[in-house]
Amino acid sequence: MLMFNMVGELEDVLNKVYENPRQSFKEIKHFLLLEDEKELKCLFSFADKVRKEFIGEGVLLRGLVEFSNNCANSCFYCGLNKQGSSIKRYGMSRDEIMRAIGDLSAVNIKTVVLQSGEDNGLDPLWLAGIIKDIKSNFGLAVTLSVGEKPYGEYRLWRDAGADRYLLKIETTDPQVYAAAHSGRLIESRLKCLDDLISLGYQVGSGVLVGLRGQTVDSLARDILFFQDKNFDMIGIGPFIPHPGTFFANDKPGDIRLTLKVIALTRIITRDAHMPATTALGSAGADYRIEGLKSGANVLMPNFTPLRYRALYEIYPGKTCLKEASEKCILCMDEKAKISGRFLDYSAGHSIKKRHLFN
Ligand code: SF4
Repeated sequence: MLMFNMVGELEDVLNKVYENPRQSFKEIKHFLLLEDEKELKCLFSFADKVRKEFIGEGVLLRGLVEFSNNCANSCFYCGLNKQGSSIKRYGMSRDEIMRAIGDLSAVNIKTVVLQSGEDNGLDPLWLAGIIKDIKSNFGLAVTLSVGEKPYGEYRLWRDAGADRYLLKIETTDPQVYAAAHSGRLIESRLKCLDDLISLGYQVGSGVLVGLRGQTVDSLARDILFFQDKNFDMIGIGPFIPHPGTFFANDKPGDIRLTLKVIALTRIITRDAHMPATTALGSAGADYRIEGLKSGANVLMPNFTPLRYRALYEIYPGKTCLKEASEKCILCMDEKAKISGRFLDYSAGHSIKKRHLFN
């Protein structure tokens, strides 16, 4: 392990990581293992400076609509897995979705994230129709998060007007990935991400911190993977065990380690949009402000109708299950202010160069 005597020396090493991540694997691991409070403060404030330089002080808002909790997969860490027989399944109608979108548009939010489990029953044409209606009626940026799908469906939705797609890799470590999924290959996940990039989506990915078998080495490789792929959005959250899953008795992901991964990802990827995730707000306490102070720049108020919200239980103890959406905005405003920032109501498109001339 590397040793540093002074915070000044630590800043020099952070500069090396910032300038030359590929040559800094050992140093990235060192920062992931930091425990000293002064040194940690130095890491988080370096990440915060990078965020300020590349993104500015605005905290972007993405309105979340979880339109179905049906899922055909068995991810061992997720409460929506198909074996979760105690869960009441739901799927919102087109009208319900459009009403939720009307609600978020009425409070001036310009981006909707349409999220569901990986539902084999999802009709691609139905979703394409909804995307077109959102575009023509509300003019919002549309982000999809509906899992691994064939290239033709990704293309159909892109042609219908979808701007962005979120597909978390969860871990880039093939063994950890294999141990957390049944009947799923990391290669098919990677292919989907490449398909989405080739179709011109603004693409988001991310990882869970604390998955069974994950090591500091695999987290360091995750961070370098984010840089390699040059993702537009990166979401990092702690693993939270769900009692209805195979990983029910695993230890939850460490919050401090999660914040370190966020900070290093900000330093290395520089201008990606990074949420202070809902999972970070649901890890026994709400750590989203800490996330915003460690490099994150996005908050995601939930506009799923209250009668469905608690049913979208990827992990237990999810925050913001009972708050009316307007109250959510006040809470987000407060979080931004406590972090010394302000809410940014723009669509918050990617600022990666490849999208600027599209
Ligand atoms: S993580 Fe996604 S694909 Fe896996 S079980 Fe949960 S909802 Fe389904």
